Amino acid sequence: MDQWPLGVFASIDAGLGVRLEVAHDLGVPTIQLHAPHQHTRTKPQAERFLEQLEKLGIRISVVFGGFEGESYADIPTVVETVGLVPPATRAARLKEMQEISDFARLLGVSAVGLHIGFVPHDHADPLHAAVVRVARQLCDHCKSNGQNLHLETGQESADTLLDFLHEVGRDNLFVNFDPANMILYGSGEPIEALRKVGRYVRSVHCKDAKWAARPGKEWGREVPLGEGDVGMEDFLRTLKEIGYTGPLTIEREIPQEPERQKEEIGRGLRLLNDLKAKIG
Ligand code: MG
Repeated sequence: MDQWPLGVFASIDAGLGVRLEVAHDLGVPTIQLHAPHQHTRTKPQAERFLEQLEKLGIRISVVFGGFEGESYADIPTVVETVGLVPPATRAARLKEMQEISDFARLLGVSAVGLHIGFVPHDHADPLHAAVVRVARQLCDHCKSNGQNLHLETGQESADTLLDFLHEVGRDNLFVNFDPANMILYGSGEPIEALRKVGRYVRSVHCKDAKWAARPGKEWGREVPLGEGDVGMEDFLRTLKEIGYTGPLTIEREIPQEPERQKEEIGRGLRLLNDLKAKIG
């Protein structure tokens, strides 16, 4: 496969990605897929879906899980609601992620991703140990399906993430690096973070953002690719430096404005193509 095939984040019936037809119109060979709703995660649906993808000439690189009840309204709400961290929903969400891993297997996909949530930094916090445990359980389930698990970056610094990966200690646990999230959450300079976690990076989101006035206290602002503070040329040069050759998957989270989403992703793809020609 070519180095750095282009991709977009796509959705069937759940999540913030573009529809498959849009991915096809954009001419990308790969997608990351947001897992569809539970009633759609069946064998017949998987087969129908694979047929459709085959016709469109698209392959799935990662299936991403997300959950009912998650809210990204502001940073404290993310802490309360996102991923496998909130205790009240943890068992049900673990089960759902295991089902998503099983569905990804039906699709022949060997990587599953998620936002695990805000892992408490303090090892003495019982919540910390509980999240390490659930991450191991999910890794082991993915392993039984021949899959890797990719944790989306952003809600923690690179050092905290490395510490967590080491503590979980599973050889199928990797990173989906999203440079814009580092800026949106105020969790560190993205290029430096990418160098630190580089050896674990198995997928990426190409997304851009502007720093908040008070990083970590309030959201930064997601902007079209190339218009933010990530520095896409530096990002690609650093991906090359760490030896990453996988898909460059554009994520642009404005599903409420589908025309604008498609147009901006189109421009993003042209930018990535230009940078690939220059750097690749
Ligand atoms: Mg992302």
